[in-house]
Amino acid sequence: MTAKFKQLCPVCDSPQEEVMFEPWVGESDPAKLYGAGSGVPGTQRIVKCIDCGMIFESPRYDAATIVKGYMASQEGEHDSQYPMRVYSFYRTLKKHAKYLPAPGARVLDIGTAGGAFLDAAKQYGYEAYGMEPSADLVARGKARGLQIEQGTIESHTLTHGSFDMVCLWDVIEHLPDPKSALMEISKLLKSNGILLINYPDIGTWQAKLAGKRFWWILSVHLHHFTRKSILDICSRTGFEAFHFQKYWQTLEFGYLERMAVHYRIPLTALITRLTPEFIQRIPIPYYASQTTALARLKK
Ligand SMILES: [Zn+2]
Repeated sequence: MTAKFKQLCPVCDSPQEEVMFEPWVGESDPAKLYGAGSGVPGTQRIVKCIDCGMIFESPRYDAATIVKGYMASQEGEHDSQYPMRVYSFYRTLKKHAKYLPAPGARVLDIGTAGGAFLDAAKQYGYEAYGMEPSADLVARGKARGLQIEQGTIESHTLTHGSFDMVCLWDVIEHLPDPKSALMEISKLLKSNGILLINYPDIGTWQAKLAGKRFWWILSVHLHHFTRKSILDICSRTGFEAFHFQKYWQTLEFGYLERMAVHYRIPLTALITRLTPEFIQRIPIPYYASQTTALARLKK
């Protein structure tokens, strides 16, 4: 039987916490909690650091148990939206062009899933490399001709000081130790390198309105960042966050419906059954409290 442990604040290491939400769904099997990227809502006790305001899960399973789930995860549903994801990523690169390294740069995407960002980065002119724990997703990415290594930021074979930009797309909230991950990323970057962090922002008014039903409070999300906590964790790991932007993504309507059902949003199961196929295929741009932050290495 695997046990849960009280966590120190992942940003400031304080042991002082107050409870924000108690779990309202009983599920304790690590294979179910961490074995799919989409996760399970309502299974975690969410606390807030009294010293710095960071919001995170505590108590929590140990890192080895969590990473074992990520490694075994099967992601056919996530991967079904591959072309839409490539399109969203490419548009974001264009939009942030003035802050990003010029085409030709070496870029690393950590937690690259099936490699959609690598595809967009290649189209943009970058030399793109990916790292991903799920064996299933690594195989899908390799079949697309992308350069992907199976592993995590704690266990890689990449050369220090060799990248112009490192990206964490919807990844930092999954990492058991985000501060040590950012410190390792600071070593992988060249001087003045760029760190891109896309994260679900629990500081938005939509998140505050949703409370414990905020759709990103999922078993796979160990940490919940705000703009302040991103600024804090960056400054503690050698980075300066200098730009924040809402992230609009484009996915097919039917996929969004299926996710809404999965996240137990009322009435969506009925609406999904009534939606004709051609409507399910329509691309929908949406904003769901995700934010893109850019940070610069301070050396
Ligand atoms: Zn703290």
